[in-house]
Amino acid sequence: MKTVKAILFWLVSWTWGLPMTLFGLLCALAMLITGHKPHLFHYFVYFEVGHAWGGFEAGCFFFVQKGAGISIKQHEAGHGLQNIMLGVFMPFVISIPSMVRYWYREYLVRSGKKLSWELPPYDGIWFEGWATALGKKHYN
Ligand SMILES: [Zn+2]
Repeated sequence: MKTVKAILFWLVSWTWGLPMTLFGLLCALAMLITGHKPHLFHYFVYFEVGHAWGGFEAGCFFFVQKGAGISIKQHEAGHGLQNIMLGVFMPFVISIPSMVRYWYREYLVRSGKKLSWELPPYDGIWFEGWATALGKKHYN
């Protein structure tokens, strides 16, 4: 069953979910070229890079900070499940809004307009909370 799930996940990721998977592939190639080693989390290929920034997910791939804990990996894997559900709509419905929101929050904190604890919870918006819930449910 595990193998069937992995095959189905990869199949859907490389068809219906192709836009994000291709973007992930480009990022993965950049990681390999710069000497980063690939790791496996369930059937996701991931790379660790940088410190204390979180992570992002693209198709079958995700990219996280060095030493990322299970909760970050589960969250990113949750975005991978969103990608096989939303497919070609994933970039517009979740990935781009999520990235814009991430950098807007960074801007608020770095510019001194807000302290990090004054921000609403990261999972307070539906697509982040959903990714966390999916990740916890399917990848523990
Ligand atoms: Zn997220």
